[in-house]
Amino acid sequence: MNEHAIRNVVIVGGGTAGWMAAAAFSRYLNNGYTKTTLIESEEIGTIGVGEATIPPLLNFNAMLGISENEFVAATKATFKLGIEFVNWDEIGHRYIHPFGFFGQDLQGVHFHQLYLRERSKRVMQDISAWSMSGVAASLGKYARPGPQSRPPLSQLTYAFHFDAGLYAQFLRNFAERGGVSRIEGKVVDTRLNGETGFVESVTLAAGTIIEGDLFIDCSGFGGLLIEQALKTGYEDWTHWLPCDRAVAVPCAYDGQPDPFTRSTAHGCGWQWRIPLQHRMGNGLVYSSAHISDEDAEKLLLDNLEGEQLADPRKLTFTTGRRLEAWNRNVVTLGLSSGFVEPLESTSIHLIQAGIAKLLALFPDKRFGANERNEYNRQIRDLFEDVRDFIILHYWANRRTDTEFWKSCAAMDIPDSLSRRVEMWHSKARVLRDGAELFATPSWVAVMLGQGILPESYDPIADCLDDGKVAAAMEQLRKGYLETAQRMPSHGEFIAQILGQG
Ligand code: FAD
Repeated sequence: MNEHAIRNVVIVGGGTAGWMAAAAFSRYLNNGYTKTTLIESEEIGTIGVGEATIPPLLNFNAMLGISENEFVAATKATFKLGIEFVNWDEIGHRYIHPFGFFGQDLQGVHFHQLYLRERSKRVMQDISAWSMSGVAASLGKYARPGPQSRPPLSQLTYAFHFDAGLYAQFLRNFAERGGVSRIEGKVVDTRLNGETGFVESVTLAAGTIIEGDLFIDCSGFGGLLIEQALKTGYEDWTHWLPCDRAVAVPCAYDGQPDPFTRSTAHGCGWQWRIPLQHRMGNGLVYSSAHISDEDAEKLLLDNLEGEQLADPRKLTFTTGRRLEAWNRNVVTLGLSSGFVEPLESTSIHLIQAGIAKLLALFPDKRFGANERNEYNRQIRDLFEDVRDFIILHYWANRRTDTEFWKSCAAMDIPDSLSRRVEMWHSKARVLRDGAELFATPSWVAVMLGQGILPESYDPIADCLDDGKVAAAMEQLRKGYLETAQRMPSHGEFIAQILGQG
């Protein structure tokens, strides 16, 4: 063992972030000398929301060797094929941002360019008719693609909706089986080294002192170590992402679970609808400058589809990111690292990405600046990429019914987003800067969905034969539709894997 090796990792916080980190460390820091301890406080509890995910979560589960059926049963999960946006462009308009890609590129030309070329000549269906996930979602169907599946089923891309509390419990069992120690208690003090400013230990209300080499701050919005102790600083993005409150409440529902999240825009924000096996998760994300908490709660309760199952939970947040996700010997994951707002269900992914990057750049006790700087750069890029994608939904609206939507449409957007929009406007090109989370099809779905029509398409698309392109597109469209029609309903599929079907 290297004399500088990290021996004690201390995770502060046992929400989704804390237990995801603990589960991953139980598997990947399992070297016989690194000990992981997680501290959590039942008195403080967890945020209790965060139930919609995006496809990379499958990689996290696979990395841990988790059986998908076991996971679906334990967390009361459903499958998610994308997000349906209602009233976002204009009242009455809806579109889906499906997972996965559209159609098939032909002779190196992006499918969306061919689609736009066809659309310039004749009336076309929405582009989601060329998405396996989009078509299955619209029919309420689901079938799991396997390693042997062929196109178009192999193109079906999915994620999950799950119960956040059950997910944390599931990961806790996994992590504890893998050797992580859990300590129940409230951290009341943090001791810093007088010379280096590194965190040396945390003290619990009962007086216990817990020392560590590396601390992972998963303490939620409060940022117990990264902010309260280390004063790292926070970049506030409220001028771009104006929603700062949420109210959440579960309800009962009848019928089949939809295989997608629905986001319905209201006059001052938007409402989520997340179907789980046993209940529907609902919440209103809103701007406190435009609606009172009482009116927001009433709006949410008036729009529930079934019996309310619990008291509404109120949440306050500031969109933005911690200036350094890794400061001295503290790495922050989850809400303590920042929050871009839940519109595209990205927060859990940011936790997963943070864990993967930390493992790839894992330090020793000397805490070299190279790893830290690289980690901070990668996390900043990721947060900014997600930020721009979400701003696009707000900014590209054509609603004139409230001050909220008018001010969103009038805002100055970040330069990085302006450049993307300009490229799209001229020839429907999607700028790719590197390893971004949202790939070309996601930008295409939201640009078109929000009504941003390009002036033209890529001229290279005109090099392809008209008749051949039209025939290929029709064949693809039929293939998606017929494949989706043969799938079981989403509810039937879940019943089958739970052994009830
Ligand atoms: P928390 O759940 O707040 O956990 C913090 C932990 O720290 C708790 O265990 C707490 O007890 C502990 N703690 C705090 N202080 C102390 C102390 N002094 N001593 C000991 N322990 C302490 N993400 C998605 O990916 N998809 C979504 O659909 C989604 N929807 C969201 C909707 C809203 C309105 C909000 C606000 C967030 C949403 N998120 C979503 C984000 C998601 O909820 C979080 O990323 C995720 O739950 C991780 O939270 P966390 O573990 O960082 O914090």
